[in-house]
Parts: sequence; structure tokens; C-alpha cells
Amino acid sequence: MSEKQPDIIIIGGGAAGLSAAQYAARAGLSAHVFEELAPGGLLLVIDKLENYPGYDAPVSGFELSDKFAKQAEHFGAVIHYGSVESVQRNDEDLFTVVTSDGTFTVPAVIMATGAKRRELNIPGEKDYQGKGVSYCATCDGPFFKAKRMLVVGGGDSACDESLFLSKLSGDIVIVHRKDRFRAQRSIAGMVENDSHIEIRFMHTVNRIIGDGNKITSVSLHDSSTNRDYEEPFDAVFIFIGSDPRTQLVPDAEVDEGGYLITDEWMHTNIPGLFAVGDVRDTPFRQVITAASDGAVAAHAAAKYIDELRGQAYV
Ligand code: NDP
Repeated sequence: MSEKQPDIIIIGGGAAGLSAAQYAARAGLSAHVFEELAPGGLLLVIDKLENYPGYDAPVSGFELSDKFAKQAEHFGAVIHYGSVESVQRNDEDLFTVVTSDGTFTVPAVIMATGAKRRELNIPGEKDYQGKGVSYCATCDGPFFKAKRMLVVGGGDSACDESLFLSKLSGDIVIVHRKDRFRAQRSIAGMVENDSHIEIRFMHTVNRIIGDGNKITSVSLHDSSTNRDYEEPFDAVFIFIGSDPRTQLVPDAEVDEGGYLITDEWMHTNIPGLFAVGDVRDTPFRQVITAASDGAVAAHAAAKYIDELRGQAYV
């Protein structure tokens, strides 16, 4: 090993990864972040964030992620715009991390890879992405003010986002494939009591229909009557969950949803491997909780590395 190796590699440059990088670098570790796209992760699609502490006016996700990245770099973290191909733990308790910028050997790795939003994979969905099919109400809802919007899904996201859309239009329909919401009772109750939202259980979407530039209608299936019908809509918002990106660490323990299981210090079951943000099994996915995960993991990783190298942690 000729070149000086980093102490820690952080995979993913969203709120969790960048916060981990900042805390690790500030603690004196050589921290390298790998991000395939632009730093920010899901933060980038947030138009206005009004619940991040310290801001008395809404801040855009883009602006906040830029600040996260600059702050991490200010303390010495290195951000690579590249991909990680594999992570392998060797017999010396170190990880070999193969990346588009070379191969590194490090004592600790933080998985901050997030989760990919699921798609319905139905005809018309891809054709009208950006033209009425959306996976983010805060980003795209304002384009459909006072229009007729369809929401798909039955979890917290679908219910939360329907409530957001109901402030923009009195004509929201939410369809869910089961006969009750999976969402928390409190959120589902708000949807049920919202006069702007019509709920249709036992419904799925067959296809999304449009004129080439915009959505004109949606074909729906009512499984309680086994009937297909078409109805006019201007936009379709899809919130059917997400798939955590854990492919790089197939031996790490996951929950039934496939999210990496950690303890309160963000340790996975593999020594030296930590997980933060949306990729981990967490009850509340927010920018602030992701950032908090990053700080906790960096602190725990610094302690782990010192112990591995036989130094007392102060
Ligand atoms: P969930 O996995 O919780 O829910 C996904 C929903 O989509 C389920 O109702 C599921 O149906 C439905 N679904 C899945 N696949 C399909 C499909 N192919 N066709 C039709 N429907 C489908 O995802 P969420 O994004 O809602 O939530 C993810 C996590 O984030 C959860 O832990 C949630 O608690 C958390 N969260 C918390 C919030 C809060 O506390 N305010 C806000 C938003 C998210 P079925 O029920 O039949 O499985």
C-alpha cells in the first residue's frame, strides 16, 4: 500500500453522509465521501424546507445540501464524484473498497446510500414523468394548483403528501390496493377527515393516459367489483415506498423491509461498518434525523478506529 489511505469511506453524499463526513473530518479523520450524482441525495428534490432548525425562512434543499458539502470540505473531507463498486472485509479487520477512483483499504465504512423510490411500472408512467407523474408533492404539487390529482399508496408518505396536496386543490383522490391504510392512525385519520380528499380503497392503477405533453386521464381497477374504468386527472403522485440501497453489503443484517439494522451508535452487525439515514432501519426519515445519524456514526467510527489501532479514545 503506497499512497496514504483514508481512515473512513462514506458511501453516499446526502444529508446523512455529508454530516458524517463533517463530523469525521472535524474529529481529525481522513474522510472520503463517494457520491455518484450531486451532493444532497433526496435533499435536492425538496423545494422548500421549513423544519430544519436554525432557519427562520424556508431554505431550498439545493442550498442546504451545498452548505452541508462546503462545511464538510472546510474541515478537510474529500468528496469524490464517483461510484463504489464493491466493499469487502478482509482478514485484517479492514475493508477493501473498490471505487471508480481506485481501490482503498480502510478500517471503517459508513453506508449512507439511501433508498430508491419505487415505481408502479405501468404503461404511461415513464412517458409522463416530469409531465404530471411525480414522486414528490412538495416539488411538483404547486404546478397543479386547483387541478385534479391522483395519489397512489397507503403508507405514511401517501397520506402525508395527500394532506400537502389538499392545501393546493380541493380535488384529490387517493387510491390504495388494500381496504385500509398502512399509515399511522393519526395521519390516516387526518386524510379521512379532509374534505378535499376522496379515498378509494381496493383500487389499483392500470395505466396513465395523456396527449403526449400532459396527463389527461387514468385507467383504474376496482378489485372489490372487478371493474376497470377511466377517469380524468391532471397529475398522478406515486408513493408506494422505497427500496434501500444495500447491495454493496449483502452480509449486513437487514429488517423485513430490507433496511440495514443498527444499534443506537449506528453499528451494523459487521464490525467497522456503520449505516446512516434512509438506508437504515429508522422510525422517522427526515433531514434532521439523517444528519443526526451521520454525527453519531462519525463519533462511533472514530472511537472504533482508535480502539482498532490500540489508542485510547479521548
Ligand atoms: P411504506 O412502505 O410504508 O408504504 C408503501 C405503501 O405503498 C403501502 O401502503 C403499500 O401497500 C403500497 N404499495 C407498495 N407497492 C405498491 C404497488 N406496486 N402498487 C400499489 N401500492 C403499492 O412506504 P412510505 O414511503 O409510505 O414510508 C416509508 C417509511 O418512512 C415508513 O417507515 C414511514 O413510517 C416513514 N415515513 C414517516 C412519515 C412520518 O412519520 N410523518 C412520513 C413519511 C414516511 P400495502 O399496504 O398493501 O403494502
